[in-house]
Amino acid sequence: MKRVFIHTFGCQMNVNDTMRMSEALASMKYSPTPVAENADLIILNTCSIREKAEDKMLSALGRYRQVKLQRGALIGVGGCVAQQEKNRILEKVPYVDFVFGPDAIQKLPEILQRVEADRVRVVETAWVDSESYVFPRADPSTSRGKATEFVTVMKGCDNVCSFCVVPHTRGREVSRPFTDVLTEVASLTTVGVREVTLVGQNVNSYLGGISFAQLLLRTAEVPGIERVRFTTSHPHDLSDELVEAFRLQPKIMGHFHLPVQSGSDQVLVRMRRDYTVVEYLERLAKLRAARPTIAVTTDIIVGFPGETDEDFEKTYALTEQVRYAGQFSFVYSPRPKTGAAMREAEWGSVPHEVKVARLEKLNALQKRISSELNAQQVGKTVQVLVEGSSRTDATRRFGRTEHNTTVNFDGDAPIGALVQVQLASSSAASLSGKQVSIESMPSVLIPEVAAVPEVCLT
Ligand code: SAM
Ligand code: SF4
Repeated sequence: MKRVFIHTFGCQMNVNDTMRMSEALASMKYSPTPVAENADLIILNTCSIREKAEDKMLSALGRYRQVKLQRGALIGVGGCVAQQEKNRILEKVPYVDFVFGPDAIQKLPEILQRVEADRVRVVETAWVDSESYVFPRADPSTSRGKATEFVTVMKGCDNVCSFCVVPHTRGREVSRPFTDVLTEVASLTTVGVREVTLVGQNVNSYLGGISFAQLLLRTAEVPGIERVRFTTSHPHDLSDELVEAFRLQPKIMGHFHLPVQSGSDQVLVRMRRDYTVVEYLERLAKLRAARPTIAVTTDIIVGFPGETDEDFEKTYALTEQVRYAGQFSFVYSPRPKTGAAMREAEWGSVPHEVKVARLEKLNALQKRISSELNAQQVGKTVQVLVEGSSRTDATRRFGRTEHNTTVNFDGDAPIGALVQVQLASSSAASLSGKQVSIESMPSVLIPEVAAVPEVCLT
């Protein structure tokens, strides 16, 4: 058996791709190792959403060069940077053996055979931009040990947000047929998975034979599934039908990640986001009418070209007004071939120190709001799906509420149990309490020892 180490950068979609890579490599007798120094094959599954992620990938490649020198390990680069920068990687990093894009995961065995047999550098970055694209089907045994799992429902993106590299690295939107999604969800329940998160760059525009709202409702009906989540959504596709699904199906968890990006209409136009702040708030109001307790989180970019102090203050005010449960806020980073990068000189760059100051101010506000919202939960008893031992104290248990908030608690319920936890304290990031009852046990006993970690997130 040979060993593969996969270093995963970026989002949940890349984590999913890494799992599919491991499965494809199992047919070549590669088993995962968590230690790069022991590997015969090292793969970097890259992200190019921001410049920083790309820089991290290059410095990691430098570290793995030693493993190549010492053990003769093969090195491959996959994911979004590979798709967009194949020539630059091959030129700049002579010890990379192969480069493959997100649509070539299933071709990994073939690529490796060519590298090993012919000793040539292989590049495979063709896109399959059509409904004939076959999504790799997850092997449920990879998910053994987990109560919750991610399921890919679409790839690519048809939007043209001016800051975003995704349409250039992942191509056009292709939805996975709904029967395929439901079959995968059902197969995951056989190893004990009770919660699934449907993932795609813009899941609301799903077109796999039924609407996204119908897909959520059908997923919730799969026997053994107790909780359904999804990410990520574009506000202009938040349909009334999707809002209605929240009213109808309590298994759809009360958390909605709805990236707003900016609180200024002027910036939203330049970002090509297709909605105004008022329209965004109207959709949010409908959602909150359907599920009054819903937790809303968002993504925000600060320092977008031309963003004035006044624009930023509007984003700050919107954060106060919506009272997001959490947000991922980022400093704008110009990406190759994107509209905003091409027009940055015309719109005006925001100085780095101004971007950083805005980010810190926004993060401080969000931390206060998250702390306040979590503090309001103290004293309540909430449902938690047990995911394992607490990461901060192995004698305690860990899981998440319907709002996707982490809870560390005293208790003894096994992984996959749904428990009631009485909350005793809180911070901006998590809740703490004690198990008061077990609501339901998993139908499959999930092993307590976690599977060999095959990803290493940065
Ligand atoms: N599809 C989602 C949407 O429509 O909002 C976004 C997915 S994107 C992979 C994740 C987040 O990265 C974005 O919401 C945005 O806030 C951030 N992001 C994307 N491009 C960026 C850039 N050039 N600079 C900084 N942040 C960026
Ligand atoms: Fe990028 Fe999301 Fe816009 Fe698509 S919708 S281009 S993934 S930010």
